[in-house]
Amino acid sequence: MSNLYSDFGVSDALYAYGEGLLAGLRERFARIDAVAEANQAKVLLAMQRNRVDAACFHGSTGYGYDDAGRDTLERVYADTFHTEAALVRPQLVCGTHALAVALSANLRPGDELLSPVGKPYDTLEEVIGIRPSPCSLAEYGVGYRQVDLLPDGGFDWEGIRAAIGSRTKLVTIQRSKGYALRPTLSVARIGELIAFCKSVKRDVLVMVDNCYGEFVELREPSDLGADMVVGSLIKNPGGGLAPIGGYICGTKTCVDRCAYRLSAPGLGQEVGASLDVKTSLYQGFFLAPVTVAGALKGAVFAARLYESLGFPVLPNGTESRHDIIQAVELGTPEGLIAFCAGIQAAAPVDSYVRPVPAPMPGYDSEVIMAAGAFVQGSSIELSADGPLRAPYSVYFQGGLTWYHAKLGILLSAQKLLDAGLTALPEA
Ligand SMILES: *Cc1c(COP(=O)(O)O)cnc(C)c1O
Repeated sequence: MSNLYSDFGVSDALYAYGEGLLAGLRERFARIDAVAEANQAKVLLAMQRNRVDAACFHGSTGYGYDDAGRDTLERVYADTFHTEAALVRPQLVCGTHALAVALSANLRPGDELLSPVGKPYDTLEEVIGIRPSPCSLAEYGVGYRQVDLLPDGGFDWEGIRAAIGSRTKLVTIQRSKGYALRPTLSVARIGELIAFCKSVKRDVLVMVDNCYGEFVELREPSDLGADMVVGSLIKNPGGGLAPIGGYICGTKTCVDRCAYRLSAPGLGQEVGASLDVKTSLYQGFFLAPVTVAGALKGAVFAARLYESLGFPVLPNGTESRHDIIQAVELGTPEGLIAFCAGIQAAAPVDSYVRPVPAPMPGYDSEVIMAAGAFVQGSSIELSADGPLRAPYSVYFQGGLTWYHAKLGILLSAQKLLDAGLTALPEA
């Protein structure tokens, strides 16, 4: 077996070890490919049914009136997610913005927001006002309640029932674990939770933070009753090509309100030039099922490799996956730094840079990040980060191609081997 990656510094022993592990993952990878194939067909059908043509890619400027390509892209998203409507815009500057628009458009003063799955993603703490912040929902009189998951990761059904009251207007469910140590929710479990909340209060709205989950399974939370699914285009659905943007797919009533909140009351979805980004948004969405499959294979390989080297990993190498994030507990600051150095060294962009830990707003310890991306901050591209505190876990995700993810993981392990922080098991 000749070592394809010796020029990058991967040793023959590590290469052979990785190939051995990969031989055991063939069936797993075949299942990932089968999901990608079905999702590819779903996206393609949505594009055909909406008669996507070359005119859709023409840019628009100014107010963006009659931007037919923009409107068609939104119908393609709506058809793919099986929703009545969609708002897909470069003016949604990131995932947090899309979530903030969805929440603030559909909650009014006196309403209450409920998270039945514990604390939401860090950046939403300021949106909601869990951490006091100018312009938060709390400042506008929107209340917030939270019911934590049970210690075993299950839903606290009775706690949730008790928390849904006369003011409860909207339930927010985060699909991915983000940086929390809880399981990512499968679409089936999200469906059960939606059904339960609606059985307690028929007209309660449910929004799902779908970040990192798109195209990982055959179904999306919108197939199981979510009123809105929301995410970022520099994660899964942008396929690595979208240079900016966010999406909100959902009922017409909810999405209309989001459009009025994003632009202005009375204007809504009619305005918003897409400048010259539409080709990337279409082409990225077209590629996204396959991009996500590559990222998933990378996550599974990382889990398998690091598990076999004796590091705790979440999820483990065999359990089913519902997002593209892989956590590895490296145990030492040197281990975390070496892992990130390996990911960086595998990058197509900025590969010569060495990542170093630095303070970050909102974190109580230094953070290290590895990313050599075409699109700044894009985490569908191969990237890794983690806070410099025990247990020195790294969160790893992305890879525009499986082969790039594979090289990154091998190089991360090589850096740990070189630093004497791990050793290959005896053959
Ligand atoms: C990334 C992410 C967000 C926020 O997205 P940004 O684009 O970074 O603002 C929100 N929720 C979850 C679960 C995420 O993973």
